[in-house]
Amino acid sequence: MEKNILSGQSFLGKLTDEEIEKRRDSAEYHFREFLYALGYDVHNDPNMKETPRRVTKMYMKELFSGTYQPCPKITTFPNSGNYSGIVFEGGIKIISGCSHHFMPIIGYVYIGYIAGDTIIGLSKLNRICQWVASRPSLQEEMTTKIHEELEKILQNNKGVAVYIKASHLCVQARGVKDYDTSMITSKLSGVFLDKEDTAKEEFLQMVNSFKK
Ligand SMILES: [Zn+2]
Repeated sequence: MEKNILSGQSFLGKLTDEEIEKRRDSAEYHFREFLYALGYDVHNDPNMKETPRRVTKMYMKELFSGTYQPCPKITTFPNSGNYSGIVFEGGIKIISGCSHHFMPIIGYVYIGYIAGDTIIGLSKLNRICQWVASRPSLQEEMTTKIHEELEKILQNNKGVAVYIKASHLCVQARGVKDYDTSMITSKLSGVFLDKEDTAKEEFLQMVNSFKK
């Protein structure tokens, strides 16, 4: 049986700054070799000379920076007013890269939750989504992981709903080359799964009224 390795899961663990620097040098060297193997005169082409450095920096500092950083610290607040409706945030922009082709995934996340004891600052929802997205991913796993993180943080919540709509450049620019398609995934828990409750319907209405 294959080991259950999650998409984009790094084997590196926690790295010191020095170790990250070593990784960066190594990645840069190998990306230069990769371009050379593809037949580009990377050592002399003035536009490509610095490309290995730029691409490595882009992956490590931006697109896949979540690989090298722990989940952002999330402060929670007591649900002092006992608010029992849905807390909703939509249009949370995410940029990731697919594990299969290393092509960008660009989309929006919509989150709804019904608080138990705690609520979290709205911008923290963005931070969690962006941290989860900033590694090589599959949209399915991204959805599950964002949901999992929220379940952990929102103590005794009554339900958490995550909905992602994203475009995958690997579908748009290669293979079937269908640039109008997008993918939708969702993960629901608690009252959002209760058929007797209107929470799911209300959440989807919120998503639809917001949808970009
Ligand atoms: Zn792909």
